[in-house]
Amino acid sequence: PLRISEEAAAMWKKHLERDDSKIVDLFSGQLRSSLHCSVCSHHSNTFDVFCDLSLPMPKRGSTGGVTLRECLDLFSQEEKLDKENAPMCERCTRRTQSTKRLSIQRFPQVIVIHLNRFTMSRWSISKSTVCVSFPLLNLDLGPYGPVDCAVLYDLYAVCNHSGTVNMGHYTACCREDNGWCFYNDSSVTPVSENQLQTNQAYVLFYQRTNSNSTLRK
Ligand SMILES: [Zn+2]
Repeated sequence: PLRISEEAAAMWKKHLERDDSKIVDLFSGQLRSSLHCSVCSHHSNTFDVFCDLSLPMPKRGSTGGVTLRECLDLFSQEEKLDKENAPMCERCTRRTQSTKRLSIQRFPQVIVIHLNRFTMSRWSISKSTVCVSFPLLNLDLGPYGPVDCAVLYDLYAVCNHSGTVNMGHYTACCREDNGWCFYNDSSVTPVSENQLQTNQAYVLFYQRTNSNSTLRK
């Protein structure tokens, strides 16, 4: 709908007036949060700038892995908010039971996807070591965008977290001209593509391959 895209474009313009740089050009995108009041059916949208997408991890048994698609689906899934947690409905002018849905309004050139492995409970933090499988080529984020077009990304780096909540170590895998390399403190060693998807993958870096959206057939 035109009104939504105009509203989003205006918010984006406002953002660029405050903060514009090469970093913004590459890494910043815009998130849309749509709120729907279940009392009066009023729809409203808010737009926020994001520099990384923090995805929840689906609950799964210790043996079964999950896919990045499942994490993305969970992220964009409609969420029911009860009165206490819902923001004020503009029309009812009070907090009402409502639903919220997140989607990507504007895609960045480079999308940083954070697999939120750490869960905070009241007394402790725990880490999920579930294996998340993710595509190396042609990740299509189109289904989470404003229109149904393919929005394709290729993976170029992975940041890994090994260890526990209290004692962890970071390493990285990056795509170089002649293949993937594994960066571990001062050592750099070649790594094969099938070694990238481990239960330590923590942050994924994807670069957009089609800057002009191609309409899905
Ligand atoms: Zn309402």
